[in-house]
Amino acid sequence: MAEEAEKEVTTFEDFKLNKQLLNAIEEAGYQKPTPIQLQAIPTVMAGHDILGIAQTGTGKTAAYLLPILMKVKYAQGSHPRALILAPTRELAMQIEDSISLLAKYTDIRHTVIYGGLGPKTQIEIINKGLDIIVATPKRLMELYLKGALILKDLKTLVLDEADKMMDMGFMPQIRQLLEVL
Ligand code: AMP
Repeated sequence: MAEEAEKEVTTFEDFKLNKQLLNAIEEAGYQKPTPIQLQAIPTVMAGHDILGIAQTGTGKTAAYLLPILMKVKYAQGSHPRALILAPTRELAMQIEDSISLLAKYTDIRHTVIYGGLGPKTQIEIINKGLDIIVATPKRLMELYLKGALILKDLKTLVLDEADKMMDMGFMPQIRQLLEVL
């Protein structure tokens, strides 16, 4: 008996994202998923780990953010459930902007933390409760070791530009973090 071929995924609706995300995607003007999104989103949503390689401008950020936003879903508890590490403050801030764009119609709480300025304001934000945190590795570990950031509820970790983080000498912090997790 011939089995019916599985319908090919070609639209954002096919990913079974929730309405809040689909509305934000539409408003952002994304008409269809990019190749990295087509490949990564179903795999991540099925709960698998993934290593992706794609150039800047290919939609890689949304490729990992959309499954995270689906999984985190809404504000819950106090401690972050997803962590995204980035090598530079600039990239971390861009990722935070993408979260603001895509999480617009959810109540998900998110922030970005990085070095180069005092941690006081960042700690105040953390204390109000968070669902997703974007960070540079050194500041993240500083706040963790101070006891200002609780990582016990983390379920998802993203290393954005992992190759650059290694080139920049962040391996000790990443190793330390993996031990904590
Ligand atoms: P990135 O590769 O993650 O830096 O994304 C590059 C740019 O593409 C960003 O401005 C995104 O907002 C945008 N983008 C991401 N996904 C899509 C999509 N499916 N269609 C159109 N633009 C997109």
